[in-house]
Amino acid sequence: MKLNEHFKDIAESYLFSDIAHRVNAYTAANPDKKVLRLGIGDVTLPLAPSVIAALHGAVEEMAHKETFRGYGPEQGYAFLKDSINEHYKRKGVELDSDEIFISDGAKSDLGNILDIFAKDNVVLVPDPVYPVYVDTNTMAGRKIIYMDATAENGFLPMPDYSVDADIIYLCSPNNPTGAAYTKAQLKEWVDYANAKNAVILYDAAYECFITEDDLARSIFQVKGAKTCAIEFCSFSKTAGFTGTRCGYTVVPFALERDGMSANKMWLRRQTTKFNGVPYIVQRGAAAVFTPEGQQQIKQNIAYYQRNAKIIADCMDELGIWYTGGKNSPYIWLKCPNGMDSWQFFDYLLENIQVVGTPGAGFGANGEGFFRLTAFGSEEVTKEAVERIKGLLKK
Ligand code: PLP
Repeated sequence: MKLNEHFKDIAESYLFSDIAHRVNAYTAANPDKKVLRLGIGDVTLPLAPSVIAALHGAVEEMAHKETFRGYGPEQGYAFLKDSINEHYKRKGVELDSDEIFISDGAKSDLGNILDIFAKDNVVLVPDPVYPVYVDTNTMAGRKIIYMDATAENGFLPMPDYSVDADIIYLCSPNNPTGAAYTKAQLKEWVDYANAKNAVILYDAAYECFITEDDLARSIFQVKGAKTCAIEFCSFSKTAGFTGTRCGYTVVPFALERDGMSANKMWLRRQTTKFNGVPYIVQRGAAAVFTPEGQQQIKQNIAYYQRNAKIIADCMDELGIWYTGGKNSPYIWLKCPNGMDSWQFFDYLLENIQVVGTPGAGFGANGEGFFRLTAFGSEEVTKEAVERIKGLLKK
């Protein structure tokens, strides 16, 4: 037996354990100090009342012989796929419900989709990057090339025709940088991918934070995307499902290569290796699309957007350069006074007990930058901002 040697190539994920280690050491030495956490990207508001009611209803159905459900369709129940289809229609995107696949979250699908691609594809990812794209391909032994996301390009790298890539990862609004592509910019990426016969794996996990009309809420709002893109989306940040687990992936019928259909292959892959998301969870997810559900989750999103604005306004006041905050729950800021990412982390922790995420943890280009999230409570966000102002105001 031989184990997959490519696991040796994966960097240990030190980032969040390093952060936890430093914060724990600090709190042990300073038990009287109140630490404010704006580091991790997890939500803090509970599920919406409509979702809770739907979950209860589905639990009750499971208690009775007449309404009990066993195995469901691996690719998701029609009631949820149709609701998502309607959601896309409202964004101006026409899909067939069988182009939509329900999963237990975007992370699983982002990793599992690689089953349908040949090993010798060249992968293009931005730096800094959500680490899942890099680690999943490294595990599979694929060659990865990086494109620079920097302050100069607003952390939105554009295609370079001198680079030949087969699988391209785009995440918009971006984690960690909060930067979001316009539809016009995405059109350039779609044209590049179609010209290169490449595929774009488009991560739209944060699309619900987009407020400006020229920004894309789906890559399928861009003409030509159906022949070159797969989109990943999630209820995690939209509706607080980080612990409940549900997401969806759109694989268009038009995405074909060498007579093979990506949609059929993904269906085959899912029916072989996956037995579907729990009925109860899918009922909860479908409630998100009811009029009451939409109204309730919009209130939750607005709450996080207000937090993002509080942080962004603070950066404006301090004259600190940043991206995100407006169409994203992340604020990606340039560390002040020439500090590197970890120096700034320690500076905030030791002086004002505010925890964020050092940009260097997301790639070489993240050095000198720092991520704050809007997913904390309003009270914590406001207090953290006051402390940051007190520390950094000249
Ligand atoms: N994609 C991005 C960019 C994320 O930041 C996250 C979670 O933080 C995910 C995907 C994972 O989403 P899910 O909870 O649906 O697995």
